[in-house]
Amino acid sequence: MRAFIEESFPIKEVSEISRKEKNIRHGHISTLHIWWARRPLAASRATSYAALIPAVGDVEEWEKRKQFIIELAKWENSLNKHIIEKARKDIVEANGKAPKVLDAFAGGGSIPLEALRLGCEVFAVEYNPVAVLILKCTLEYPQKFGKKLVDEVKKWGEWVLEEARKELKDFYPEDELESNALSLEMENKKEKMAPVGYIWARTIPCQNPSCNAEIPLMRQFWLAKKDKKKIALMPFVEGGEVKFKIVGDGYEEMPANFNPEKGTVARAVANCLVCGSTVDDKTVRKLFQQGKSGQRMIAVVLNSKKGKIYRIATQKDIDAYRKAEEYLKEKRAKLMEEWGIDPVPDEPLVRVPVSFGVINVWVYGMNKWGDLFNSRQKLALITFAEKVRNAYSKMIAEGMDEEFAKAVVSYLALAVDMVVASCNTLGRWETTRELIADVFSRQALPMIWDFVELNPFSGGSGSLERIHDYYYTKILEHLTSINP
Ligand SMILES: [Zn+2]
Repeated sequence: MRAFIEESFPIKEVSEISRKEKNIRHGHISTLHIWWARRPLAASRATSYAALIPAVGDVEEWEKRKQFIIELAKWENSLNKHIIEKARKDIVEANGKAPKVLDAFAGGGSIPLEALRLGCEVFAVEYNPVAVLILKCTLEYPQKFGKKLVDEVKKWGEWVLEEARKELKDFYPEDELESNALSLEMENKKEKMAPVGYIWARTIPCQNPSCNAEIPLMRQFWLAKKDKKKIALMPFVEGGEVKFKIVGDGYEEMPANFNPEKGTVARAVANCLVCGSTVDDKTVRKLFQQGKSGQRMIAVVLNSKKGKIYRIATQKDIDAYRKAEEYLKEKRAKLMEEWGIDPVPDEPLVRVPVSFGVINVWVYGMNKWGDLFNSRQKLALITFAEKVRNAYSKMIAEGMDEEFAKAVVSYLALAVDMVVASCNTLGRWETTRELIADVFSRQALPMIWDFVELNPFSGGSGSLERIHDYYYTKILEHLTSINP
């Protein structure tokens, strides 16, 4: 059989649909776990179909097929019974039965998922263990266990979240509106507000011997940079120290001569705001390598009914962090004893030459994977890992089938991975959208001077709650519905 795709294919239209797919989140497998270069589902579905139906000679028939392929490729038709069933019928008619499809380099699973949707018998092969786990969760488990998988992942996902919250919530204290520190318009309105995250700056000491002030390294000072909401951190010097206040819409007026674009560091060259001297890039790197750098919590982002609001970090915020730091020591030792390994990854970071621009953080003395997290992030992540392991033990103790328990716990583990992507010291505060840009917003691990520490219980983007919600209400619902 000469396949349709060998003669023709609506490349332009399917490319356009594939491009749009990048913005789709709800139910899309890209939200299940990160995978590099995951193929668009639209292109995978359309090409699989066009490869499995015969070429046609008749122009009218050809045009009809082309239009059908375009409709089939659309995300909104992913679960359209009428369209998918017609595609399946065409494929069976052309091949005598449902064909076997092998993807020998299956990666993120788009092609096998679409072949499965089109009714084929699918085989997916990968040698990367991360991809294998993603493939199992994308293809195998939803087909094998169906709707009961959705219910159990939801139940145990909530269990993990609640167990972790019980243990960690005091380390992310909520705000009981202290009006002087907050936006003026919020005054007199009692509201409990959960922190979304904490904005930190890495620091180095000024190298001018007569100054020695702490230099907070900040690429820029914006907090919100939207058309109708412009808020920034404004540094000022007091008593030989750099301090900050918040200026802009809803706060103190932003002085006309203050340019939030210009931070204290550019291309690793730092400026001291106290004495005006500069520290060259070589020295900055050396200070980091020698362990002479530090970190300073600058501001807190809060979720209010009116959207994100900001305030300068207080001693109370720093105390909560210090408490987490203390508790981490105890927890880490306990888990090390139980697991026989350090729960904070101690494997060395890959030393890719800096010129590749992929991973450069090792130049700044971050030598192990665990160095990419601050203490409270480490505490949160090892606690999540512990709760996921406990969930599995509990499932088995309650008599759940071992294979099914393994399936359920796999999604819980993928969710922790997704939190890791947002819960590290390489995440930026995305000022135009006021949310965290996770570390994989670029396919690299570049140094970030001023990072945001996410509150994993905030319910916002990147939090465990949000990720779980995506899983059981959207992705798993979708994946268990493709094969009616
Ligand atoms: Zn100085």
